[in-house]
Parts: sequence; C-alpha cells; structure tokens
Amino acid sequence: MAGATELQQVAREVAGCVACALSRARTKTVPGDGAPGAQIMFIGEAPGYHEDQQGHPFVGPAGQFLNDLLASIGLKRQDVGIFNVVKCRPPNNRDPQPEEIAACDHFLRRQIAAIGPKMIVTLGRYSMGKFFPGETISRIHGQARRRDGVIYVPMYHPAAALHQPTLRRAIEEDFRKIPELLASLNQAPEAPEPPRAPTQMSLF
Ligand code: URA
Repeated sequence: MAGATELQQVAREVAGCVACALSRARTKTVPGDGAPGAQIMFIGEAPGYHEDQQGHPFVGPAGQFLNDLLASIGLKRQDVGIFNVVKCRPPNNRDPQPEEIAACDHFLRRQIAAIGPKMIVTLGRYSMGKFFPGETISRIHGQARRRDGVIYVPMYHPAAALHQPTLRRAIEEDFRKIPELLASLNQAPEAPEPPRAPTQMSLF
C-alpha cells in the first residue's frame, strides 16, 4: 500500500481501536502527524491533555518546546513526522503500561514503514525502550546509532527537559547534532557493526 494511504488506514484503525483500557477514557485518538518521505521521525511517549482534546501530537507546552527545538535547527513541524508510542491518553498522564505499549506496537511499526525516515529521534524513556532496550537515557542520550541506513538518536523528553535546566541544555545540544547526522547519512557508507556494540539496540 502506498505510504499516504497506509498512514490514513492506520489512523482509521487507531480511531476504532479498543485493544486496551486507554480506549475507554480517551476524548480523541492521536495517531500522529507526518507524511511519507519525511526525513526525520520524532517518537514521543503518549498523548497528554491537549493532545487528547485536539487529536494531534505535541500540541501542549511540551509541543511548543518541541517546535522551538525544531526552529533552532531550521525545521518546522510540517517538515518532520511526529508520533507517539501510545495513541491514547493515559489517565492523569500516568506512565503507559507495558500492555498498552504492546497493543499499539503494530501501529507504530506500520507508521515507520509508511514514512520511511532516515532518522528516528526517540523522545523520553518509553520511546527509547523500543529501540534501545535495557538502556538508560542519561547514559545514551544524544548518541546516534546507525542501522540499515537509518540513524536512531535517543533524546530526553521535551516535557521533562522544559523545567529542568540540565536536561534542557542536554536536549538543546542533542538537537544541534541533527543536521550534521543527516548530512553524514548521505556521505559515509555504513560502518560495519563492532563485534560487541556498547549499546544494545533492537528494532522492536
Ligand atoms: N508528550 C508526548 O510524549 N507526546 C505528546 O504527544 C505530548 C506530550
């Protein structure tokens, strides 16, 4: 199926999904925003209050900060894909449960395949956990890993970084690496896997 059609199909399925308990408390589903061919895909955690009201990801204060971070490297939201691991708001913004993350997993996989990004930036622990299981964000944030022609970069969550100066500096610095990393994709061939990578990485 062509990318745009597949993204629409996923959004329709998300809208009707009752696979986990989050479906009972949601106002709107938040499938994510982005078009096939977007070079970068940002993957956050789960919708909050504003996202649940509006049906779009990162439209509250964390989203405003994400917009600012994008602007700092000359990008707009329309230039990138913005998605979440979980498509419905957890009550009172609690952490998503493993079974909720698992129930949404196939949606995210299909969205990644439909977009075909060159770079995936994970925002926060839950998104990082999909690609770097067993890692800690304080240890690996900002460290890019390249696999099958895609660069994966774990970063702090903008909501956490918004009010904590140390994390804020870290995410601002990590964002500044994005343009150079993207450029490197178009130049250097992929380095062979080291015998034992320092960081575990999994593609789901
Ligand atoms: N936090 C997220 O992880 N995702 C959103 O869409 C909003 C806030």
